[in-house]
Amino acid sequence: MKWITHQAGALAAALWFKAEPLVSACMVLGAVLPDIIEQGISRRNARLFLAIHRGFFHWFGLYAAGLLAAICLPLASHEKMAAVGLMLGALSHIALDALNPSGVPALPLHDRPRLKLPLVSTGSLGEWGILAGLLTLIALGGYRLDARWLKKLAHFFG
Ligand SMILES: [Zn+2]
Repeated sequence: MKWITHQAGALAAALWFKAEPLVSACMVLGAVLPDIIEQGISRRNARLFLAIHRGFFHWFGLYAAGLLAAICLPLASHEKMAAVGLMLGALSHIALDALNPSGVPALPLHDRPRLKLPLVSTGSLGEWGILAGLLTLIALGGYRLDARWLKKLAHFFG
């Protein structure tokens, strides 16, 4: 999946579930976190990136554990919201990548077995269809937002 699809997926989920504005923003950032981590490790070396892409950092357990830690650790409320948003966004990334024929690892540190529901390849017509669906959900989710949420958004931007 392309980053725009991952970010649309996270934003659609955030708006649909009326997540706090800070959580929503961090979900959109977290939606590309697994790929950013791999790019950081491979330092934009294409061969190294391909070797580690959709490996350990695309294992859902990593972000599920991060989510649990974010919920359980005694963090300040804005830190907790940011961390929860990042982890939820990363989990949405893994879920969308699982729709790709190459899937995501089911176990840590093992390339196989893979979790996959091979419906769409990256950049295919199917992905654009999913993006169109997510944009529709964003529009519908935005429509569902109420004055209370918009007040929080205004507060978020100071
Ligand atoms: Zn990915």
